[in-house]
Amino acid sequence: MLTCSQCLHANARGLKFCENCGCSLAKVAEAERIADESEAEVMLLEVKKARGAIGLVAILQTLFAGIWLVTDVIDTTGMVVVLGLGAVFGGLWVWCKSNPLAASIVALLLFATMHLADAIADPSTITNGVLLKIFVVVVLVRAISAGLKHREFVRERGMA
Ligand SMILES: [Zn+2]
Repeated sequence: MLTCSQCLHANARGLKFCENCGCSLAKVAEAERIADESEAEVMLLEVKKARGAIGLVAILQTLFAGIWLVTDVIDTTGMVVVLGLGAVFGGLWVWCKSNPLAASIVALLLFATMHLADAIADPSTITNGVLLKIFVVVVLVRAISAGLKHREFVRERGMA
C-alpha cells in the first residue's frame, strides 16, 4: 500500500501517481522499498542462524567419533559412519551459505532420521544429549519457517 503524503489516499503498489490527487508517489514507493528490504533482511538473518546449528552438528559428530572410538563405544566402522555424517553436515554448512532454506530442510530431515535410527536401534539413546537435539531441531525448524516466509515475502513484493 502506498499512502499518499499529500492527501493520505491509499494507493495500490506500483502506481507512480496518487489516484486521488495526482501527486508523485516516488518518495513513498522508495520508502516502502527500503522498509521491505530491511524486513526481508531480518527474515534472512533468522534463516542464516541455521548455519550455526548445522556447523555445531558437524563439529560434534567429529568430536564424538573420536571420543567414542577411544572409549570403545564404537568400532572403526561405527566411527566411519559417525565421521561420514559429520562430513555431510560439513557439506550442508557450506551449502547453507548459498541456499539456507534447502540446506536447513535437508539438515533437519537427516538429523531427525539419524536420531530416529539411533532410538530404534537402542531406545536408551533417546535421552542422550536431549537438550542439544531439541536445540538443533528448534533452530532448524525456525530457520525453515523463516526461509519459507522470506520466499513468500519476496514473491509477493516482486523483489528480485
Ligand atoms: Zn494524493
